[in-house]
Amino acid sequence: MSYQVLARKWRPRSFANLVGQEHVVKALRHALEKQRLHHAYLFTGTRGVGKTTLARILAKCLNCETGITPEPCGKCGACVEIDGGRFPDLIEIDAATNTGVDEMRALQDNAAYVPVRGRFKVFVIDEVHMLSKPAFNSMLKTLEEPPAHIKFILATTDPQKIPVTVLSRCLQFNLKQMPRAAIAAHLEKVLAEEKVAFEKEALPLIARAAAGSMRDALSLLDQAIAHGAGKLAAAGLREMLGAVDETYLLRLLEALASGDGSAMAAIADEMQARTLSFDVALQDLASLLLRVTLAQTVPGALEEDLPERERVVALAKAIDPETVQLCYQIALQGRDDLSLAPDEHAGFLMTLLRMLAFRPDESMTSERKEEQPKAKPAEFDGDWVALVQKLPLAGGAKELGRNSELKSHGNGVFELVVQKNMAHLAGESFREKLQAGLAAHFGRTVKVQVAFGETRGGTVAALDNAEKGARHAEAVRAVQGDNFVQELVNLFDGRVVDSTIREKQR
Ligand SMILES: [Zn+2]
Repeated sequence: MSYQVLARKWRPRSFANLVGQEHVVKALRHALEKQRLHHAYLFTGTRGVGKTTLARILAKCLNCETGITPEPCGKCGACVEIDGGRFPDLIEIDAATNTGVDEMRALQDNAAYVPVRGRFKVFVIDEVHMLSKPAFNSMLKTLEEPPAHIKFILATTDPQKIPVTVLSRCLQFNLKQMPRAAIAAHLEKVLAEEKVAFEKEALPLIARAAAGSMRDALSLLDQAIAHGAGKLAAAGLREMLGAVDETYLLRLLEALASGDGSAMAAIADEMQARTLSFDVALQDLASLLLRVTLAQTVPGALEEDLPERERVVALAKAIDPETVQLCYQIALQGRDDLSLAPDEHAGFLMTLLRMLAFRPDESMTSERKEEQPKAKPAEFDGDWVALVQKLPLAGGAKELGRNSELKSHGNGVFELVVQKNMAHLAGESFREKLQAGLAAHFGRTVKVQVAFGETRGGTVAALDNAEKGARHAEAVRAVQGDNFVQELVNLFDGRVVDSTIREKQR
């Protein structure tokens, strides 16, 4: 079996074979049936979701010799030539390599001629956001007054970079990432039809590695079959993907639950001896912790056919929910830190030890803590500004604190308001870091909620600015009142530019 044969062979050639884009297909079918054709279509979506595949299918629908149809025959000259990539009226341009205005001029000239063979001349421009500005302007001329025989199909991973003048002339469709279950189901069908022996547990591994792209999934499947000498075996696939056998991770968490640090280190060594990817291991550890949390909070959501289900349920009982949450955070953070660690093994081990170190002593055993004779937790006096300045926060979490006003608080819930223009600060990760900072300060769990609204100048940032403004005004007064400055101004007929005056640093 030659490399990538499946990816090409199973490339969808009709709407019916296109997996997972039903919403787009439905709209296009309808338009084709009613012959309500637009002259420019824009397909957006991440790489590998099938934008250019869909563009070619649409080109066939428009040019099939049986007539404009959502069901191109696949047999006529036009259909066969489009499938074979040699139809003279289907012009495919990759803007990632042809960003120049010359190409667009040529396109503009070409657009003036009627189609050679087909009903329409179809221009497919992939990664259209990469076109230069003059090239966009040149294309716009054709888009503004499109000849009746021209159709544009534009595709992009980044629609925000397309000028609005172009966007407004396109009918836009957003292609979705393929869900893992849909990818796994499709692979199963392909394998059955290709009569390739396979282990079912290998399918979700490919589906996950493909990250939403059916094209990548099929390429990986090809590689895996070649790697497995004609068969798809889970063990060989794990080796190929650098994926981690879950039993290592289960053993790690079991050692964590019993507080056995040396066992954890020994397992990490075993993993290194097998040259497993520690980045993938941390990713998988986080998803295992997610499943433990599911078992604790919504047991019904845990898949019935999950391998190792019993061990996950046992872990859910052995580790308390807060610790699981914390370990999840530590695993994610550990992935970020991995590139900075002396080496991957060290980074991985440090992450595990961090989980062990932050493990609340009594809480790991099955007897749950009820009363905690802790130091009296700090109480909140309602002064948000003072509180924010006390918290040891950094980066975005700090800015979120500084730019927010407290709307209400009670029962450990802090309701914050930020201005809409600070929306970038209101993301999950900053909110969670601020929440963690508050939790550490008060010694109990707290919840932070962020809403958008008007702040009334009571944020730390606003107060800082006001103070700075006052200091500046003071500096301006001092400069303008200075006799020497006045003399200079009179002498040179000048003026003092207020904005250049800097207040003294205190
Ligand atoms: Zn046809």
